[in-house]
Amino acid sequence: MSTREYDLVVIGAGPVGENVADRATQGGLSVVIVESELVGGECSYWACMPSKALLRAGSALRAARDVEGAAQAVTGTVDVAATLKRRDAVVHEWNDSSQAEWLASAGIDLVRGHGRMTAEREIAVAHADGTETTLRARHAVAIATGTAALLPDIPGLRDAQPWTSREATGVREVPASLAILGGGVVGSEMATLFSSFGTQVTVIARSGLLGGVEPFAGEAVARALTDAGADVRTGVQVERVERDDAGQVVLALSDGSEVRADEILVATGRVPRTGDVGLEHVGGEPGAWLDVDDTLRVRGFDWLYAVGDVNHRVLLTHQGKYQARAAGDVIAVRARGGDVDDRPWGKHVATADHSAVPQVVFTEPEVASVGHTEASARQAGIGIRVLDYDLSWVAGASTHADHYRGQARAIVDEQRQVMIGATFVGPDVAELLHAATVAIVGEVPMDRLWHAVPSYPTLSEVWLRWLEAWGR
Ligand SMILES: Cc1cc2nc3c(=O)[nH]c(=O)nc-3n(C[C@H](O)[C@H](O)[C@H](O)COP(=O)(O)OP(=O)(O)OC[C@H]3O[C@@H](n4cnc5c(N)ncnc54)[C@H](O)[C@@H]3O)c2cc1C
Repeated sequence: MSTREYDLVVIGAGPVGENVADRATQGGLSVVIVESELVGGECSYWACMPSKALLRAGSALRAARDVEGAAQAVTGTVDVAATLKRRDAVVHEWNDSSQAEWLASAGIDLVRGHGRMTAEREIAVAHADGTETTLRARHAVAIATGTAALLPDIPGLRDAQPWTSREATGVREVPASLAILGGGVVGSEMATLFSSFGTQVTVIARSGLLGGVEPFAGEAVARALTDAGADVRTGVQVERVERDDAGQVVLALSDGSEVRADEILVATGRVPRTGDVGLEHVGGEPGAWLDVDDTLRVRGFDWLYAVGDVNHRVLLTHQGKYQARAAGDVIAVRARGGDVDDRPWGKHVATADHSAVPQVVFTEPEVASVGHTEASARQAGIGIRVLDYDLSWVAGASTHADHYRGQARAIVDEQRQVMIGATFVGPDVAELLHAATVAIVGEVPMDRLWHAVPSYPTLSEVWLRWLEAWGR
């Protein structure tokens, strides 16, 4: 057993752990990162990257079909084999050598194996060959171990060998039929994807699709899925699951109906990967989400940080990487005995987690949102005006597609006269989102936005329509 000492030990080399390590290294610390699977984490190999690579063929095809001239050139459906091959290239055939090389080039040491804290600032790494390395941290330990799929406690579900997002994004044999349990982001994206592959999809959701965003977004996605031939069942629950002798999955629903499919995908949420990181040895609770302050330090500790999915603030890569930049810098500053800028919107705090989280859902249609919805603003007691606009009415929509359908909503704080939320639904709205994020984070007064002139003819002209509705 060997022992090595560093300023910072990071457990988990997903996108977030990598960024914590990089920023702390840039801040002058010696850093080691521990990874039990692939450097790049869930996002690179079983989540963001493969899912978006797989979804793109269907969205490009739908876009072409809605433009006279291009539509005539489209003669077939999605080529599934070619799409899977493209996915394989995007995930580098599940080989992380290029990401490991990047770590080395950034001056970060990599130790492969399962990391577990054994005492304050001490981590034992169990290697695949049965040997162990002990790592000691002079200043801090950062846990960035992410999440795993939640399997709800439904009788028969585990025995039915359900898919999680890993099997769905890593698919090799596309099933003829697929039941998807859950209508959140993962369930809705996977329903869009497998529908585009010609799979008979059934979505089963307790409430509507995409809870947490404006209701018109989930309704538009449900409509598009239904138009594509999917069976979207909302307001029902699965009570029992079994795999029959023919290998089909049979789901008994709370409304007395039954669904049969070749496979079942469970997309009902995530659990933190903290069950086996040694929290019990340092006074923490194994299996719990790690509660942190805005500098990403675990409450009650002065040496332990939890960054990314594992702290349950926002389960998105870009937001986790934003936290990672703050955490890496803060660890380096504290190690030098320097002053941390922890004022709201200061350099070392992840303030945006509370008020300006952008998210794109790559469904048909796309859903892009940031900040408050109408419901969340009202619940927070903020006096608001809601500005709604039909995206198909802007000039950019008519040049973009022949039958563009979309909707945009801005939420404006009446008292402060600044935007606090925006939602766009429609083809290719993802790139509209960052302007809204800048307006919200910058607290740009509505009057000043009048002078930010959108180009003609683009979808961004919706900003002008919102301002006209606001009253200028
Ligand atoms: C299907 C799907 C699609 C998604 N699409 C998007 C998207 O389009 N955009 C977006 O922003 N977000 C998306 N997400 C969310 C995104 O994947 C996560 O927010 C992101 O991966 C979190 O990064 P992380 O580094 O915190 O954790 P992870 O990416 O989960 O990385 C954690 C790493 O820690 C390692 N690890 C865990 N325990 C240990 C241990 N004890 N010792 C050593 N190593 C350990 C793991 O092997 C893993 O490599 C998606 C999620 C899913 C499931």
